[in-house]
Amino acid sequence: MSEIARKENTDILIEGATIISCGLGGCNEKVAVLDEGAIAIDGDRIVYVGPSPAPDEFRDAAKRIDASHLIALPGFVNAHTHAAMTLLRGYADDMVLMEWLQEKIWPIEAHLGSEDVYWGAMLACIEMIRAGVTTFADQYFFMEDTARAARDTGIRACLSRGLIATSPNSDTALRENIELCQGWDGEADGRITTMLGPHAPYTCPVDFLEKVMEAANELGVGMHIHLSETLGEVEESRAKHCGMSPIELMDSIGLFEFQTLAAHCVHVSDKDIEILSAKGVGVAHNPGSNMKIASGTAPVPDMLKAGVKVGLGTDGASSNNNLDVLEEARLAAFLHKLANNDPTVIPAGQALVMATLGGAKAMGMASDIGSLEPGKKADIILLDTTKPHMYPKHDLTSHIIYSARASDVATVIINGKLVMEDSILIAIDEQKILRMADERAKALVAKA
Ligand SMILES: [Zn+2]
Repeated sequence: MSEIARKENTDILIEGATIISCGLGGCNEKVAVLDEGAIAIDGDRIVYVGPSPAPDEFRDAAKRIDASHLIALPGFVNAHTHAAMTLLRGYADDMVLMEWLQEKIWPIEAHLGSEDVYWGAMLACIEMIRAGVTTFADQYFFMEDTARAARDTGIRACLSRGLIATSPNSDTALRENIELCQGWDGEADGRITTMLGPHAPYTCPVDFLEKVMEAANELGVGMHIHLSETLGEVEESRAKHCGMSPIELMDSIGLFEFQTLAAHCVHVSDKDIEILSAKGVGVAHNPGSNMKIASGTAPVPDMLKAGVKVGLGTDGASSNNNLDVLEEARLAAFLHKLANNDPTVIPAGQALVMATLGGAKAMGMASDIGSLEPGKKADIILLDTTKPHMYPKHDLTSHIIYSARASDVATVIINGKLVMEDSILIAIDEQKILRMADERAKALVAKA
């Protein structure tokens, strides 16, 4: 390739990094660590991962990054969130789920408009980029505005419009979701992909889900759905549907014939786990949200043993209250050790793989993202190892999960482009986003 043909920021060589690729060993093995490694990026793809210095053919890159004090990791994957809910962060906490929804969240959401969602999602995107999250899966309203935010900030997103059949505008919502898929799938240099977003079996009766499946068939897209988050919805499903759990019910109607990303899966039986594994359903585990709302403990170690594809999600910022996937990885490790009375459960390497490749697998995107391997999209983060809490360096995988903070993420590359370098966001007016999101949130609360 000639120098003239090169575009700015499209050819990058990272040198001298400690590389944790997360691509080897699967979910149950210790992750491999390569000291003194190099990564070469051509366009939006990784073309070399190996010892530093890289072979001659990769060494005349337009941009070279000295990563001798940095760990290179695949970007974190937030497999379940509602990005624009950042506007409701800290608005209502420490409440029982249904009171929280009915008295606080839903009345505010009734006033949400397109520009609110745009600025809420912009806030979410820069928060995630700063925390090393390079991909997120979202289900909310005004999703074209979340798509605009993803496009404008440089992050990768898999978007679906939340569909609630019990609401009067359910057919309009389905049409909006279809239009989102038709208008945005593959946009922003392929960073935006789409799914259909039936909210949950308890808000979407079977006849509505059949319409959703028909649309999925025509569009060739998957599903993003909440499954078995609370005990109450599982009991209701068993009472209404001949003893079937929400997962058994979804399996019986053929929903899992489509690529499915299922959020939560907290109250699941052994039979449910068998179905999730056999049908290749991806699970987004949200330990922070599940603990804060006291939903319960998802049997994640059992799911992993059964071969279920488990990633991590933050859920919306009003039930977490941040979008920090690294924190979710630590919470997952801690929660399942405590719940199982066994400190060997979810070791650091497994938590790290869930935060990266596990999320990519759960979203059906593992052929493109989730690990640092030649041929994959260049979604790479560099973590600073010079802070006091990263010394001494006995085991960097342990440090990432048990000691590092999201603010240790120094540099973020998404789709081969530098989005943050040395903690400075590139081509993003961060102050304006903070100001606009704050103004929108205050105006929204005033309307409630
Ligand atoms: Zn959710």
